[in-house]
Amino acid sequence: MANKLKIMNKLIKFFVKRIPRPVLIRFSFLFVALVRPFYYGRKVECPICGKRFRSFLPYGNKGRSNRLCSGCLSLERHRLIWLYLKDFSRFFNDNMKVLHVAPEQPFISRFKKCKNLDYNTADLLSPIADMHFDIMKIPLADNSYDAVFCNHVLEHVEDDFAAMKELYRVLKPDGWAILQVPIDAQRQATYEDKSITDPKEREKAFGQYDHVRLYGRDYSQRLEAAGFEVENFDITKYLNPEQIVRYRLDASELLYIAHKPKC
Ligand SMILES: [Zn+2]
Repeated sequence: MANKLKIMNKLIKFFVKRIPRPVLIRFSFLFVALVRPFYYGRKVECPICGKRFRSFLPYGNKGRSNRLCSGCLSLERHRLIWLYLKDFSRFFNDNMKVLHVAPEQPFISRFKKCKNLDYNTADLLSPIADMHFDIMKIPLADNSYDAVFCNHVLEHVEDDFAAMKELYRVLKPDGWAILQVPIDAQRQATYEDKSITDPKEREKAFGQYDHVRLYGRDYSQRLEAAGFEVENFDITKYLNPEQIVRYRLDASELLYIAHKPKC
């Protein structure tokens, strides 16, 4: 079985590298349903869909193993956000108006089913989103949302300060946003160079062909400059090491919860 799993992991890495991303996204649920039987087991557990597997699927440019849930397509960061929302926030209890920018697949149907949420999705282009706009200029009223999600978006945005200010503007006072970005923990200051526009050069400089900067440990300060009060939530303080392994979380990933002050 271990050999079969290794072969399957290699096959997935091979195809993920060669199949265009839009095709992968379109057929992702069909694809994971086909490979799921090879991952039958109980070693890892997805807190979002509740399913257990021998391992998660490989994912990402480098095809790192044991990342993507074949039950709901969650990655480490989605499982982290879910655990925070479920166990450390009032998200599933209070009546809330929610804006979800670039909505992630594991969350959309689950959030839509929550009767306490008035849930709106938005994206620049995606046909599955309710609204389409550029987050540097959001066509929505001031102080209108209790919670905003905008994960792994700001690293693609030309003027992230303008986008942060817009996200702040649409939040109600006392509202909060989860604004995850990839962070290079070795780096203190965010690295940005607007003269780098070639996709290959961007990949070399910022880690992905369509990223326009590489955030460093100053990310919280950048959010604070836009007006937010930032809470760094470290899940390792609340879960034991066995749970971190079972849920396959990235223990070094902090959640950036950006609060808009009450007044
Ligand atoms: Zn799952």
